[in-house]
Amino acid sequence: MTEYFEVHDRDGAARLGELRLSESHRTPALADDLLVDAGSEWTQDRELPAGDESKVTILPHRAFPGGTPEEVQDAFAPAYPTVEFPSAAVVHSESVADHAADVYVLSNAQQLAGHASAFVDAIIAVREMISGDTALYLPGVATPATLPMLVAAGVDLVDSHAARIEGTRGQYLTSNGAQFLEDLEELPCSCPACQQPRAEFTLEDCAEHNATVLEQELRTVRERIRAGRLRDYLEGQVRHDNWATGVMRQLDQQYGYLEQRTPLIRRANLTAATDDTLRRVEIQRYAERVTSRYRNRFNNPCVLVPCSAKKPYSESQSHNQFHQAIQFRGHLVSMTSPIGVVPQELELTYPAQHYDTVVTGNWSETEKEFVSNVLRAYLERTSYPRIIAHVPDEGYRAICERVEDELGLSFEYTVEEHPTTTESLANLSSTLAGEEKYLKRDRQHNTMRAMADYQFGDGAGDLLFDEIQTEGRYPKLRARNSDGDQLAVTVPQYGVLALTLAGAKRWVASDAPTKRVEIDGFVPHGSVLAPGVVDASDDIRPGDEVVIEGPKAFGVGRAEMSGPEMEKSTRGIASSVRHVEER
Ligand SMILES: [Zn+2]
Repeated sequence: MTEYFEVHDRDGAARLGELRLSESHRTPALADDLLVDAGSEWTQDRELPAGDESKVTILPHRAFPGGTPEEVQDAFAPAYPTVEFPSAAVVHSESVADHAADVYVLSNAQQLAGHASAFVDAIIAVREMISGDTALYLPGVATPATLPMLVAAGVDLVDSHAARIEGTRGQYLTSNGAQFLEDLEELPCSCPACQQPRAEFTLEDCAEHNATVLEQELRTVRERIRAGRLRDYLEGQVRHDNWATGVMRQLDQQYGYLEQRTPLIRRANLTAATDDTLRRVEIQRYAERVTSRYRNRFNNPCVLVPCSAKKPYSESQSHNQFHQAIQFRGHLVSMTSPIGVVPQELELTYPAQHYDTVVTGNWSETEKEFVSNVLRAYLERTSYPRIIAHVPDEGYRAICERVEDELGLSFEYTVEEHPTTTESLANLSSTLAGEEKYLKRDRQHNTMRAMADYQFGDGAGDLLFDEIQTEGRYPKLRARNSDGDQLAVTVPQYGVLALTLAGAKRWVASDAPTKRVEIDGFVPHGSVLAPGVVDASDDIRPGDEVVIEGPKAFGVGRAEMSGPEMEKSTRGIASSVRHVEER
């Protein structure tokens, strides 16, 4: 229960929130002046403080040294009372419990600093125990270089303590790490403390500077979350701090924690500049769904082609040339780093048309391994009468040959020098001679079915759209059932489906697993707030299509938070509502 903290926006495990004290404060924030400590109960029994809305009161607490047996901790743990003012509970990552506080202070934060896997385990343990709409405060740890990582892990509040201490020790901090003040001939900063001759710059000034830089970094991080681009920034910033790099990689191993919190669709593009990009949830999730949910419904040969810089691929010059040569006789599958493989029906689906990658012509071994793993898994699930590899030498051909060997398949190669030379295109066309063309109608039906597989699960495309009529012009398609009722439209921006009420009813009636948000007895308009949610499917992710059902209403909309967060939260928008009807 949190009356004083609300999450407004999410970017993976990072959140943009608001601490609603007598003045409102955006988070992630410095907690220095926002909290008041009622003190530890080890030294004396504490009176329950009066508390007021100007600050968050840390309730009387007992911190335990790491490794204290759980029975001992339980025996001495203070019972946190329910209070009428903004409050914080002090918790240890090994004995965390939900105390219905607005803020949780991690007592062993400083012991975790520097340890990547212990830190990640601790943050996940705490975050999974406390409600999503409560703030997590990590005291005494943050520096400008580690801040983006702390926030990306799920921390909402930090303080300037560690940065100031470093300053008094002669460590000059920037977002790029630490330097010895003594080594600096110039002060590479324009904050007020640095507006003086180098010779007069004291350790106190250094502490002040460090705190200012941390504050600036918080603004950068908040802006990144707002834009949905914290991860791009993180991949660059963690280079300056080994602990931060370790935490990012360790967190990427905790796929479940991040995946639950990462939106299915996003406006912003993602930047693929390092091998770490291959491990981010959006990339892994796309590859996972294409190789476990997607079903190929064409009977034509597979034509493997390289991706294009322009997105969606079908609007690029090279793909237009491939299309002219193929003439609907082949099923186009694009190979790309960092996405893996993109079947033509899913070229719009996030993040297939939402990434910018560094093109050098040389693929790293990690990229080759990733793309060949995805291609192999894809071809293991999808059978084709023939596989034509219309790919250039660099990287692509090596990947094809690797997969060909591993699966005991034999690909037909059609490229001479470059895929778009007249000779190569003529080869591609003549290799497909005699193959039947698929119909535009089939392409449209299969596109909607493939999106349904991707969004709703393996087999959903056939279960929801077995007999449909489609209308409209790609990429804006509409599906109707045999009675003429509209079931769904494509959302070209994200390559997903938006269901109508008739579509949602069909989804519920089908054998495809439904994502449901069960609500109280009211008719929602525009959105469902978290307190109105009675129950929600565990597998709902932000951006998912959801059915909204209650005693008085049936509707369909798009989730704003994950299913588990909807159930636990007492504030915030759980889901938007696109269509609703009274019952
Ligand atoms: Zn400065």
